[in-house]
Amino acid sequence: PPLILWFRRDLRLDDLPMLTAALASGQPLIPVFILDPETETLGAAPKWRLGLGLEAFSTRLAEAGSRLILRRGPALAVLEALVAETGATGVLWSRLYDAAAKARDTAVKAALKGQGLRAESFAGHLMHEPWTVQTGQGGFYRVYTPYWRTVRGIPVAAPDPAPARLPAPDHWPASDQISDWRMGAAMRRGAPVVAAHIRVGEAAAMTRLNDFLAGPIDRYASARDLPAEPGTSRLSENLTYGEIGIRRLWHAALAAFEQGHAGAETFLKELVWREFSYHLLHHTPHIATGNWKAEWDAFPWATTGPQLTAWQRGLTGEPFVDAAMRELYVTGTMHNRGRMIVASYLTKHLMTHWKAGLDWFADCLVDWDPAANAMGWQWAAGSGPDAAPYFRIFNPATQVEKFDPNAAYRRRFIAELSRNPGAEARAFFDAAPRSWGLDPTRPYPRPIVDLAEGRARALAAYAARGGAE
Ligand code: FAD
Repeated sequence: PPLILWFRRDLRLDDLPMLTAALASGQPLIPVFILDPETETLGAAPKWRLGLGLEAFSTRLAEAGSRLILRRGPALAVLEALVAETGATGVLWSRLYDAAAKARDTAVKAALKGQGLRAESFAGHLMHEPWTVQTGQGGFYRVYTPYWRTVRGIPVAAPDPAPARLPAPDHWPASDQISDWRMGAAMRRGAPVVAAHIRVGEAAAMTRLNDFLAGPIDRYASARDLPAEPGTSRLSENLTYGEIGIRRLWHAALAAFEQGHAGAETFLKELVWREFSYHLLHHTPHIATGNWKAEWDAFPWATTGPQLTAWQRGLTGEPFVDAAMRELYVTGTMHNRGRMIVASYLTKHLMTHWKAGLDWFADCLVDWDPAANAMGWQWAAGSGPDAAPYFRIFNPATQVEKFDPNAAYRRRFIAELSRNPGAEARAFFDAAPRSWGLDPTRPYPRPIVDLAEGRARALAAYAARGGAE
């Protein structure tokens, strides 16, 4: 009798503990992806990108003599139906850590076990399960640096390579067609524009890693802060759908570190930022939906209005902010420096709730990640656990002089700043929905907020709220 492999954010065959365990059983394997209510609520870009990831993974499985069975509906009901149809003796999956996934998976496990089935979850999305990393007092970490020092000393198991073939059942259950799921339906903006910038699937992720290791890693420590440079790995897009295993990535970066590559340690630290964001999400699930610190609940954030709209559309008149917001719209990602700047600007200069920014990112980012996005926004707003005092306000004008000194990034994404704009700058006007009424011949807008006034207003609101952290 077969075993069911329930795939979610682990669309790969390499470095996958649940697959190693399944192969050890010697049973035929039925890989399944379920479009359940939790997955249905994904934002437009991540849902579209997930659909493309599923297509690539289907092909990958077919090459290994297997298939990806697609089903739609509540996870437990779908899995019970599949067990009944196939005579499967159990279901295996890799763990996720957001509140909705944990609640769903706990209920699924209890119900399947109650029916005498094997129901087992495995590590796979992370190097360190969030509850295994503890402070000296047995609690969880709220600050990155001590967390880094602790996990740096914990060995990470070597990844298992992908099997050449997966044992197949005699009969395959029926599968939905991915095209019927219309995963790109909400992608109002130009999917073809964004498609030019994504890299889908396991092989593409491995190419990205090898390209990064062959050059950019040496300059990573400094180039990672320059948004005009191809100085980072761009692997966040693949990591979020599990198209590359984190242990595979960690061991590759560790080897580069041991060979003396200059930027390798900084890169290892970034991978640990990802782990840390999941550590926080697991231990404080409300970080994804509300202020980490409750005293922020009374802060007078705006939640809607023309300033938020201008921010979303890259029309604030603040070039660093607009370049980054347009990069997001054209490429489906945004450079980390840009994310920090636009988040600070929205929450401080525009006094707009970080949740509005978090939601916009969740709709637009092809690398949307529930943990990294929540941690990033709370960090920028000052409402989170990490030490980011509210009065530390990024000035986009001085930031841009430092990190985009020759204006290459601004010109790349803001058509109005060049007499002869390039393809990516023009693509923004193709990608934006017609309802925005954008006109590339209109001059670049004047700043919607004076930076000094915006800063003073934010500081006054902060002082009124009751002062120091
Ligand atoms: P690299 O520089 O090559 O880093 C390698 C990997 O390390 C990344 O792929 C990522 O997995 C991890 N990493 C790097 N920086 C961070 C960080 N600050 N926090 C957590 N992990 C990190 N990242 C996402 O993956 N999804 C998000 O939705 C997301 N939202 C963010 C929102 C805000 C407001 C901020 C400030 C940051 C956010 N980040 C998010 C973190 C970071 O900006 C991206 O991970 C990074 O830009 C991805 O590019 P890269 O893969 O080239 O990174």
